[in-house]
Amino acid sequence: MARVVQKFGGTSVADPQKIIAAARKAAARRAAGDEVVVVVSAMGKQTDVLVDLARQITDSPSAREMDMLLSTGEQVSVSLFAMALQQQGHRAVSLTGGQIGIRTDSSHTRARIQSISTDHVNRLLADGAIVIAAGFQGFDQDGNITTLGRGGSDTTAVALAAVLEADCCEIYTDVDGIYTTDPRVLPEASRLDSISHDEMLELASLGAGVMHSRSIEFAKKFGVPVVVRSSFAEGPGTAIVPAERAVPRPVSGVALAKSEARLTLEGVPDQPGSSHALFARLAAAGIAVDMIIQNAGHGGTANISFTVPEDDLEAALAIAGKVANDLGAGNLSHNQHLAKVSVVGLGMATAEGVAGQMFAAISAAGVNVHMITTSEIKISVLVDRNDASRAVAAAHQAFGLEAADGHSANATPLPIAKSDPLEVVRRLEGMEDLAIEGCQLDTSQALVSFLDLPDTPGVAADVFAEIAQAGLFVDMIVQSFPQAGLAEISFTVPAADRDRAIAVAQGIAATRGGRVTDVPHVAKLSITGVGIRSHAGVADRLFAPLAEAGINIDLVSTSEVRVNVIVAAEAGERSLALLQTAFELD
Ligand code: ASP
Ligand code: MG
Repeated sequence: MARVVQKFGGTSVADPQKIIAAARKAAARRAAGDEVVVVVSAMGKQTDVLVDLARQITDSPSAREMDMLLSTGEQVSVSLFAMALQQQGHRAVSLTGGQIGIRTDSSHTRARIQSISTDHVNRLLADGAIVIAAGFQGFDQDGNITTLGRGGSDTTAVALAAVLEADCCEIYTDVDGIYTTDPRVLPEASRLDSISHDEMLELASLGAGVMHSRSIEFAKKFGVPVVVRSSFAEGPGTAIVPAERAVPRPVSGVALAKSEARLTLEGVPDQPGSSHALFARLAAAGIAVDMIIQNAGHGGTANISFTVPEDDLEAALAIAGKVANDLGAGNLSHNQHLAKVSVVGLGMATAEGVAGQMFAAISAAGVNVHMITTSEIKISVLVDRNDASRAVAAAHQAFGLEAADGHSANATPLPIAKSDPLEVVRRLEGMEDLAIEGCQLDTSQALVSFLDLPDTPGVAADVFAEIAQAGLFVDMIVQSFPQAGLAEISFTVPAADRDRAIAVAQGIAATRGGRVTDVPHVAKLSITGVGIRSHAGVADRLFAPLAEAGINIDLVSTSEVRVNVIVAAEAGERSLALLQTAFELD
């Protein structure tokens, strides 16, 4: 006998017929002798309907009353689901979040789960009943109803599976699994048999429409086996598994973020506090900064480039203009209609030359790369929006993703969701879902930078092809936005490989122009967690304490789940302590 949690999203319970069909899936499991807990979202777009009702009354509904209102959506669906099961001859009991005992903090509309009592559910399961739990809701210490943020039923399901020690959490949705890229962008996309938690988090812009990021974080933390599959078609779906059990493919998927705008502040004094001055004000304005690239800044000044959602460009320009003035920085430039293309894979952390391969594929497709940033398992490039689908296709093909798990040829075609995927992603991005997990210090690397490298098309591809040929293992890569036709590419290698890396770099500079500088030992600090990119101000919470302590930042890179900074080796331990305090990790 196994214990399973099955979660049905809004589209899976959109009307009575769908509820009856979903109930059959739960009934089949129960009939097979398993204990079954079902978590249900509100029917179809019911939550949106409720939000809209509130808007017709007031522009600023109180958060407490919003939660009271929104929680009714799930109360409707759980009761109907229980009736459907009873009609099919099964014992079924529906429960609200409060009846289960899902205690949360009091941040209405984005509450975090604090504890879940299992007594009530366990008793019902022992009696042979199927328990139907309302997703997305809980109650606070004063008994107020709370909700977990839009899309929060996934989190309810995974959290329940964790506390009930379920053998599996099955997420039934309108797609039949996680794909190598958005099939609406690229029909060759294939379904993955499995993917690791971290990859899923890094692919957020691709996966967000499918699963709530916080639920993945929960699954990761508590080791809950999760399977995503279609509620409308039979099929194995995609298993979301711990890194140890994942296939370490160099690249598992390609993600596309379509509406990015880039700003560059040139000639910023390269001194502690410059980044802080800028990013503190952007954070205060609630602007979520995505890519952040600060040049190594060997000439006494640095250039800071960053991207923001295009909708925030005007506001970001106004703020950056003021900061430029205050700092006595030079020019402020920007461009819009950009997109970020990222490849994500657990195996790239140990495979050589993945970056080179990606740059080569993109350059062969005739796409110019404006900026590059990497994390341990992700490489992101900024390109013109018009080039984005070509870049996605090129990367997808270069890594053989059209047959990622070997049997994509027979994959069930993806039912096209009726909801606008970008709208889903946007909604989720507004959610309060920041969870800082840890801070790491790595002092094993050297930093090598090419300065004044003529920005000819494909330059990054050529550089990293040569570096890979020399058998050098590169960790962080950052390419700044070119100024006056000259780019700067910085990367880190194990300190032991520094001499070889410099020799290769100098060889490249001799033929292409530009010069090479290096720092033999650097300290790399990483803050990891969930919601790092979508949450305004995380980067700044990292910059601020370093600035106050007079520690200069040489290089920055950002991803969905981490921010990395490079500082001088001597400052490593001190920086680690400062960050542990700043993020309350000690
Ligand atoms: N019904 C809620 C929403 O639409 C929760 C969920 O579906 O997960 O956001
Ligand atoms: Mg949902």
